[in-house]
Amino acid sequence: MKNISILGSTGSIGTNTLQVVREHPDQFRIIGLTAGKNIHLLLEQIKEFRPLIVAVSTKELAQQVREQMDDPIHVTYGDEGLIEVATYPDANYVVSALVGFVGLLPTIAAIEAGKDIGLANKETLVSAGHIVMNLVQQYNAHLLPIDSEHSAIFQCLQGERHNDIEKIIITASGGGLRNLSREQLKGVTLKQALNHPNWNMGAKITIDSATMMNKGFELIEAHWLFSVPYSHIDVLIHYESIIHSMVQFKDGAVMAQLGTPDMKVPIQLALTYPGRITLQTERLNLAQIGKLHFLEMDFTRYPAMRLAYQAGNAGGTYPTVLNAVNEVLVDQVLQEKLPIHLLEEGIERVIDVHQSISSPSLEDIQEVDRWAREEATRRLAQLLP
Ligand code: MG
Repeated sequence: MKNISILGSTGSIGTNTLQVVREHPDQFRIIGLTAGKNIHLLLEQIKEFRPLIVAVSTKELAQQVREQMDDPIHVTYGDEGLIEVATYPDANYVVSALVGFVGLLPTIAAIEAGKDIGLANKETLVSAGHIVMNLVQQYNAHLLPIDSEHSAIFQCLQGERHNDIEKIIITASGGGLRNLSREQLKGVTLKQALNHPNWNMGAKITIDSATMMNKGFELIEAHWLFSVPYSHIDVLIHYESIIHSMVQFKDGAVMAQLGTPDMKVPIQLALTYPGRITLQTERLNLAQIGKLHFLEMDFTRYPAMRLAYQAGNAGGTYPTVLNAVNEVLVDQVLQEKLPIHLLEEGIERVIDVHQSISSPSLEDIQEVDRWAREEATRRLAQLLP
């Protein structure tokens, strides 16, 4: 029996994780759940999965949850609430599915508390990859990737030796706006940007997919998870999202992991590894699909991808800034205050003035994250036409 806490249980990864748990009640038990503001869904989850502890974003929401619960359970809130759930003694596995920098401290706390981690919160590795991976080593933690690309790479590497890797090839759908030129992006509505061709995901990651910043983050995530230099990681546009990523070895052999796009597959594997259990998901039918399409990465069409390679290669606190400014500007896009085609320029302006710190401490990273958010907000007016 795996006793699981989910950080971010009402989001896309969270609800998919609960679907996996729902299918296998004999294998998994829910100990803790956290939600930001969606307490309506959280209350339904409490009723169904009977966790021992839940956390929400504010004191007021915590009070509302307490008043509407049938049975009394421990309800906590805020940043401390997230840490309390991440470290709760009864759980041995934590699914880190928060979106953004807010996931960093709870993920670190879970590692330090000796939990196994299923990591979906990519911003954690983007902002503080060297710190998180050092802690994973220090605490001998099992950290399993939930991102579909990284789960694919992880599967391709089973039984292989690290020094036999020639390169990692991360596939990218190209996002919801892939048929539009840079020029045509200027007229894009939020609704268009929120429409992903293959994956049904949360709002932030769907915007990140449209700009390909999501792939940029995945590049940095892959660098840390598999300790491969950026010069040995390629991104390949693949429209159908059937090949979830590949590894090329020094003898020229290429291993790929395929499947219909369904996040439940990488989530479940992260929970059951090294074993596998049955999952109800659509089976891949290649004869029906007939053709798969591939395209070389276009760094002019997707400047976010160029920024991610530059920030990753430069290291220090550049990736922290990349992530922080992106979070601020995506939020502006979601509020329809910033047109999506100006997002990358906004990020580049802050990166250009950043004085990077090499080998930053956790405190340095938190400080740079704050600075980058302020700087992004301050420069927003200059960016708008
Ligand atoms: Mg992904």
